[in-house]
Amino acid sequence: MTAAWQLKSGIMENTPDINKVLHQHVEMNDFFSGGFTVGKKAQAHEENETSRSNTDEKIELDRIADEVRQCHKCRLGSLRENAVPGEGNAMAQIFFIGEGPGAEEDAQGRPFVGRAGQLLDRIITAMKLRRSDVFIGNILKCRPPENRDPKPDEIITCLPYLQRQIEVINPRIIVALGAHAARTLLGTNKPIGALRGRFHEYIPGFGKDAIKLMATYHPAYLLRNYSQDNRRRVWEDMKKVLAELGLGGPE
Ligand code: URA
Repeated sequence: MTAAWQLKSGIMENTPDINKVLHQHVEMNDFFSGGFTVGKKAQAHEENETSRSNTDEKIELDRIADEVRQCHKCRLGSLRENAVPGEGNAMAQIFFIGEGPGAEEDAQGRPFVGRAGQLLDRIITAMKLRRSDVFIGNILKCRPPENRDPKPDEIITCLPYLQRQIEVINPRIIVALGAHAARTLLGTNKPIGALRGRFHEYIPGFGKDAIKLMATYHPAYLLRNYSQDNRRRVWEDMKKVLAELGLGGPE
């Protein structure tokens, strides 16, 4: 049976393009091994000024971080080892936002440095970016005991720090990692499965332009549900983010 015949007869219409499948496989491997060499596309990202920096923004972010480290506005302030204000590029185009620090983050005072953080690092690497290109933060700046879900009053108390960070950085895209981040930032109760995979709008303070928000699965969820389908979903979401920034073209 020739390819021309298959195409004509419609058989190939439902057959996945083998090049596409192979390309996706290579990307998926990169995503989960993190073992690729930095190639042309990474240089292109740098040339596109994915990593800019600016002193005023850095100073303001440091000021917010100092306030966070001294904060005792809610019960979590007296339970923490370290506050975790967030870190990264003050002029980042992408702001990754998780739920709240875990044990490792609490011990180090840095976001996403435990197992979920290692997976986030691999996602960022697969996007041909570096951690220092993006900003990484959380809805809550202090670890809830036993990693329980954030309580509504804790979110309400802590959120202004994150809102100020978003205002200073003014990213092109927010990536909300998991249901808590996505729901909080979008003001909805919808499940993450219904929110992920498309752009929403995060509305900052009065008079500011909306910021595009991509919701995706939390890396910790991905670790617990490590299926090919879930990995592919997260990777598709990240490809949309890169495409939106003009960084996701074919190799
Ligand atoms: N999970 C989060 O949501 N944030 C972190 O910083 C680490 C794990």
